[in-house]
Amino acid sequence: MTRVLAIAIDAPLRRLFDYLPPPRVDLAQLRPGIRLWVPFGRRRVVGVLVETRANSDLPASRLKAAHGVIDAEPILDPGLLDLLRWSAEYYRHAPGEVIAAALPAPLRAGAGAHETEQRWRLSSVARGGSLAALPVRATRLREFIAFLEPREVVTAEELARLSPRWREPLRELEKRGWVTRLSQDVTARAAPSRPCLRAAGPEPTAEQRAAVAAIEAAHGRFAPFLLHGVTGSGKTEVYLRAIQAVVARGEQALVLVPEIALTPQLVSRFEARFEAPLAVLHSALTEQERLRAWRATRSGTAQVVIGTRSAIFAPLARPGLIVVDEEHDASYKQQEGFRYSARDLALVRAQRLAVPVVLGSATPSLESLHRVRSGRGTMLELPNRAAGAQPPHLRLVDLRKHAETQGIATPTLLAMHRHLAAGGQVLLFLNRRGYAPSLFCPSCGWVAPCPRCDARLTVHQRERALQCHHCGAREAVPETCPVCGEAVKPVGQGTERIEETLSRLFPDQPLARIDRDAVRRRGSLEAALDRIQRGEVRILVGTQMLTKGHHFPEVSLVVVLNADQGLFGTDFRAAERLAQTIVQVAGRAGRAERPGEVLIQTQFPEHPLLAQLVAGGYEAFAEAALEERREAQWPPFARVAVLRAEAANKEAPLRFLDRARELALSLAPAAVEVLGPAAAPMERRAGHYRAQLLVHAASHVPLQRLFARWLPGIEALPQARQVRWSLDVDPLELF
Ligand code: ADP
Ligand code: ZN
Ligand code: ZN
Repeated sequence: MTRVLAIAIDAPLRRLFDYLPPPRVDLAQLRPGIRLWVPFGRRRVVGVLVETRANSDLPASRLKAAHGVIDAEPILDPGLLDLLRWSAEYYRHAPGEVIAAALPAPLRAGAGAHETEQRWRLSSVARGGSLAALPVRATRLREFIAFLEPREVVTAEELARLSPRWREPLRELEKRGWVTRLSQDVTARAAPSRPCLRAAGPEPTAEQRAAVAAIEAAHGRFAPFLLHGVTGSGKTEVYLRAIQAVVARGEQALVLVPEIALTPQLVSRFEARFEAPLAVLHSALTEQERLRAWRATRSGTAQVVIGTRSAIFAPLARPGLIVVDEEHDASYKQQEGFRYSARDLALVRAQRLAVPVVLGSATPSLESLHRVRSGRGTMLELPNRAAGAQPPHLRLVDLRKHAETQGIATPTLLAMHRHLAAGGQVLLFLNRRGYAPSLFCPSCGWVAPCPRCDARLTVHQRERALQCHHCGAREAVPETCPVCGEAVKPVGQGTERIEETLSRLFPDQPLARIDRDAVRRRGSLEAALDRIQRGEVRILVGTQMLTKGHHFPEVSLVVVLNADQGLFGTDFRAAERLAQTIVQVAGRAGRAERPGEVLIQTQFPEHPLLAQLVAGGYEAFAEAALEERREAQWPPFARVAVLRAEAANKEAPLRFLDRARELALSLAPAAVEVLGPAAAPMERRAGHYRAQLLVHAASHVPLQRLFARWLPGIEALPQARQVRWSLDVDPLELF
């Protein structure tokens, strides 16, 4: 009986595609996880076999046969393939695109799963002397024969040394039967090297030792850990020691990090510690580099695999441990296309692999804190800073009470002078790049608007441009108000303006600005960080970019210039994000022997969030925030998903969402609440109007039950063709 092949194809459709096996193929070879060439429309594409079935929903006459098999062995092992299928189901995304997310581009285009090396040798017929001699005039060919004759095999490298233009003559010799080509699998040949330690690392503290022992005791079974320790408490040191034990057993450790910018620092720290081979997987690699790292991971040659979000799908040969560093970081959630959370999938994957998983953070997400509190994980605490450094002291600066110079209040200025005089570095944080957030006409009240968004344009002084930070629109700065002709002026503060103000106030103190505009050139971030490390820079100004992972041991004063942007956010996660940012920025202060001071400038010093943070730290804040979430029944005490729609036509998204809502209500079990639709707070972006519908339930089971019937219904709606829509399961942002 012919089997039907259910194949995943990299296309935005929530289904698999049925094919007949290729002609004359050994059916035993058709194992899930292999790739095949298949006809798709008019193209010939690579598909991944997901399963074989007894029959298809399609009539046999409409089934096409696959062209041929690419892999002898599955390139996705059953466990990984299953995780990918589960993810496609959970996030309701096209399975072909989900599987594509796990494969480097060359593999999606049919490249070999193994790294092969080509070698050449004189053919046995040639050696047997049964070939007619080459013409005397063929000196080039004779030269190659003479080179090959005394050698067993030769590599491309050796041939290139003989002559840079070797391929043509060799092809000719191959055609005439003089030369045989051999392909050899290089990855399989490289046996896993014996791990050894390059450097011992510092003597662990008692807390570090306890944490490492707990992780080690869980080896071989699923156990989620939350490693909570202030910045500088030695979390990375715990990862290194836990990984050391994993590597010593001959297993692999997967380490997820949030940003590419963090990888070089972490990678060099790992390299300094281990002799064990490392693979690094992130989006800034070339496709060939990514493929090489993927192959080294799959063959097991790489024992430590470090990567950003998509590395959660790395093909581990002998998994032993998963680590998610800075687990609260928003970059673990993909915000477009396949909207998965690598942090959440790390838990799912660790459970399926039966390995421990360590989520580490100085500011754990409320989800992870709740998990531990409800007994589904173990908390590992590092309450003190390693190497005896003191925790920083937080203080609020009331912007209503104190005079300010372009956003810098008098007490802040005094503190800066004090710390600079004592030889410390000062870091100022402002999450707003550019010169000023708006351009304003004092005579008529005009504010420069983005023509394509419901947003204001940001003034970029150095480039003499107005820029939209939502859609990228750019305009020249007008000389005068386009409405009344009077003079216009920039209002508010951006990092560029703070830099200007500081260089006026502190003319003798070398300054560095770090934000997306200042470090656009490749290598300029590294150069700036170097100058900071060497102490050449005394004042640092920057955005979020400054807050992540970098070590600034000489910084003794940190200033949060404006905490208020996050205080009254529309999103239920706004407070959590603000608290995490403040604590992460504060963590840059006083990492070495200098005690740190942190000033938070605000118009609302009595705001409970700030008060809790200052009085009780992140723990006190998290306690109160979890209580609020429980009362309001927001995640982690409930599950939500957002159906978003956008279109150039203002009415289309709401029309579509109204229909989707009716559909949901007709299907929804009582356990699911449907809220909206509502226009996004910034309704128009890049010329598109946006709206969304929220579905809410106590757990994800009723939601998943709804999705199974709701999405096919939505796909069939005529209104769906007039909008661009997407479903975001466990969204990070509601809008
Ligand atoms: P985190 O990852 O929590 O920010 P790190 O592991 O980077 O902390 O440690 C912060 C600093 O303290 C690093 O310079 C590290 O080498 C040092 N450190 C960590 N653990 C110890 C220890 N047990 N003894 C001495 N120094 C340590
Ligand atoms: Zn005007
Ligand atoms: Zn815009």
